[in-house]
Amino acid sequence: MESNSKIVIVGAGLAGLTAAIHLSKLGHSITIIEKNNFPKHKVCGEYISNEVLPYLDWLDINPNILNPTKIDSVIFSTTKGKTIQTKLPLGGFGVSRYALDFHLYQKAIAQQCKVIPETAVDIHFAYDAFTIHLSNNQILNADIVIGAFGKRSNIDQKLQRSFIQKKSPWLAIKGHYKGDFPNNLVGLHNFKGGYCGVSKVENDIVNICYLADYETFKQYKNIEEYQEKVIYQNPLLKSIFESFTPIFEKPLTISQICFDQKEPVDHHVLMIGDSAGLIHPLCGNGMAMAIRSAKIAAELIDDFSKNSIKSRKELEKKYTQTWNANFKNRLQTGRLLGTILQNQNLSEWLIRIFIKFPTLFSEIIKRTHGKNIAITK
Ligand SMILES: Cc1cc2nc3c(=O)[nH]c(=O)nc-3n(C[C@H](O)[C@H](O)[C@H](O)COP(=O)(O)OP(=O)(O)OC[C@H]3O[C@@H](n4cnc5c(N)ncnc54)[C@H](O)[C@@H]3O)c2cc1C
Repeated sequence: MESNSKIVIVGAGLAGLTAAIHLSKLGHSITIIEKNNFPKHKVCGEYISNEVLPYLDWLDINPNILNPTKIDSVIFSTTKGKTIQTKLPLGGFGVSRYALDFHLYQKAIAQQCKVIPETAVDIHFAYDAFTIHLSNNQILNADIVIGAFGKRSNIDQKLQRSFIQKKSPWLAIKGHYKGDFPNNLVGLHNFKGGYCGVSKVENDIVNICYLADYETFKQYKNIEEYQEKVIYQNPLLKSIFESFTPIFEKPLTISQICFDQKEPVDHHVLMIGDSAGLIHPLCGNGMAMAIRSAKIAAELIDDFSKNSIKSRKELEKKYTQTWNANFKNRLQTGRLLGTILQNQNLSEWLIRIFIKFPTLFSEIIKRTHGKNIAITK
């Protein structure tokens, strides 16, 4: 690969913007394609593990200027409202995606990254190069394409990725609220067929975001009825929803959320963030994984540009190996936890075990999170 090679990133979420900031810091010229405008609210629990802080610092990104809340404890409740609370081994911070993604976007622009406000409609690879087709009929050429288009995109359809062929039973709903909630706490509350995260972001705002199974959800007329009949069965959630005041006119919703395995490299595109794999949101680690996977891809692409990685084949192999070494176990633990919590009896049983052996609860949290991201160059 030539040092002045063209690198195109599809998607300007956390993963895509982080990769752009990293690569442009190393002197690469970057084009990003993003279909949405900034700033924008996103369905997300908005709790970020502190493991990303050393790396953000290396990127000259200081999340403290966004006024995040510092979170060091988690409270977990069963469907019946039985609770256990513990310290989070590394802790984290709460900041809205509206503020964080916009901040990274501004940083990428300041580092001369070019953002094209269009939808990528197709990506082709032939003769060791890519062509990317955009919705305005523009065609871009690239030597490297980073796929950062999130959990589910039209590009997944185009590339015929296997997970997209199946229907997924999950939907998610998120809103911002005003209400009395401790700054340092993230709540993880179960209800029949789902779980709900509650934590504070900047400006004393509380984020409430839940994942629900579609089969149960569709039995009710609307979100309000579903909340009252299903979610309020957990007394803690009932008291939160009844006493908090919504800030959004309507909550945001997304559907077809899929936790199946994906390939970190597909059609020669290096996938980062949710495009490579989505961890169960109850682990609160998707954003840290998006940021970490961007770092892994950016470092290897830089090595490729300097010829210390000799071929595309070697680049793809190294990326796949490093991605699996970093994330495979976390995703598996997340899937297992998700399955247990889907079963009311199993989840009551699990919390009894946690109450008896609180260190086990901390151990599970550690297994779904990484250590502080080490800075190597
Ligand atoms: C209900 C729920 C709660 C969650 N809570 C948490 C939490 O509390 N903590 C945590 O760490 N993680 C959480 N996550 C996970 C976290 O939100 C994701 O892991 C994170 O957003 C991944 O970032 P990303 O950059 O990969 O994707 P995204 O942020 O989704 O970015 C993808 C971008 O690609 C763009 N795009 C897509 N297709 C195209 C196209 N064809 N052309 C151009 N642009 C395109 C989109 O517009 C978008 O901007 C949660 C997830 C869910 C579903």
